[in-house]
Amino acid sequence: MSSNEYSIQTRLIHHKHKTDPASGAVSVPIQPASTFHQEDLDQFGEYDYARSGNPTRHALEETFAELENGTDAFAFSSGMAAISTVFMMLSAGDHLVITDDVYGGTFRFTTEVLTRHGIEHTFVDMTKVEEVKRAIKPNTKMIHIETPSNPTMKVTPIRDIVALAKEHGCLTVLDNTFMTPVLQRPLDLDVDIVVHSATKFIGGHSDVVAGLAVVKDPDLAGQIKFLQNSFGAILGPNDCWLIMRGLKTMHARMELSSRAAQNIALWLTEQPEVNKVYYPGLESHSGYDLNKSQADGPGAVLSFELADRAAVKKVVEAVKIPVFAVSLGAVESILSYPAKMSHAAMPPHEREKRGISDGLLRLSVGLEREADLIEDLKQAFKKIDS
Ligand SMILES: *Cc1c(COP(=O)(O)O)cnc(C)c1O
Repeated sequence: MSSNEYSIQTRLIHHKHKTDPASGAVSVPIQPASTFHQEDLDQFGEYDYARSGNPTRHALEETFAELENGTDAFAFSSGMAAISTVFMMLSAGDHLVITDDVYGGTFRFTTEVLTRHGIEHTFVDMTKVEEVKRAIKPNTKMIHIETPSNPTMKVTPIRDIVALAKEHGCLTVLDNTFMTPVLQRPLDLDVDIVVHSATKFIGGHSDVVAGLAVVKDPDLAGQIKFLQNSFGAILGPNDCWLIMRGLKTMHARMELSSRAAQNIALWLTEQPEVNKVYYPGLESHSGYDLNKSQADGPGAVLSFELADRAAVKKVVEAVKIPVFAVSLGAVESILSYPAKMSHAAMPPHEREKRGISDGLLRLSVGLEREADLIEDLKQAFKKIDS
């Protein structure tokens, strides 16, 4: 059954694994078995050992591949497991070009693990095609993109970077965590590999850590399947089930949270306590047009800058609705402080250069009533002057 004629909103619910053919159950069965009985000495069945394949994981992988308009997806025990496994496609002597405001865990893996294995890298401002072009060397094998980026929501011109990569015979990898396939489908723009932290919007409920990688090329699929089985950082069946459940509401969550984020971003631009708002849905944002040309929306994450650390402290301690935590992409709004959380390891001058000042807060908008969130921020901003 191909359900590709339907929009993603419908396909999130109506797909091959909507019901269990054995029982009609309207939920994917959780299969905990680690091994599978073989009937025939010469011909083994589809499954033999659960690291190599598991029916619950397979259901998630098939469903998710289809949502990204790919052919194959692979489920991992975390976003970092997905990303590091994909990086293992590189060999000693290869070179990686990577965005300079990449996720902290990816930064750590690149600078402290890949380097030990003889894999070089160059950090670039991925929004500047000329800079990316200059960074490419004869041994460059991969370009790693994140768009919009964290926390200043810079937008990378996906089509331009893909064209450049093709010219130089290197693979493109895109971390699509902030957008999900509801808002951005990089494989349609000829990106080679999409990676996700499914811990965020895909799971959506702050209760599971998971990762995904998706491709549309059988050769790449074979390479990643081999590495997934070799590394073994697979997602367990219970967590696969949680991700499958999260998918059912993903469109509804993305739509509601994005709409609220848009209105909150606009409201923030009018507040005297706020110096700057970073959100690609604002016409004043440098990536506004570009994001529109390659994604179906600006997403549910925004950042805003207050005067200084003292103002941040007052607001963080006064807000009642958002949780103050690392992470993003959940039913509850999450307020984070990049200078002390995601970018704590970065020297202050490097942070400031990237716009990550001591006054910057990131807000991942959840499903609370938008007016309640605004009221909450309003009362918290009042504390700044008191
Ligand atoms: C959280 C995150 C990751 C890492 O995912 P984990 O599931 O925490 O391992 C990677 N990329 C981005 C953009 C993220 O936000």
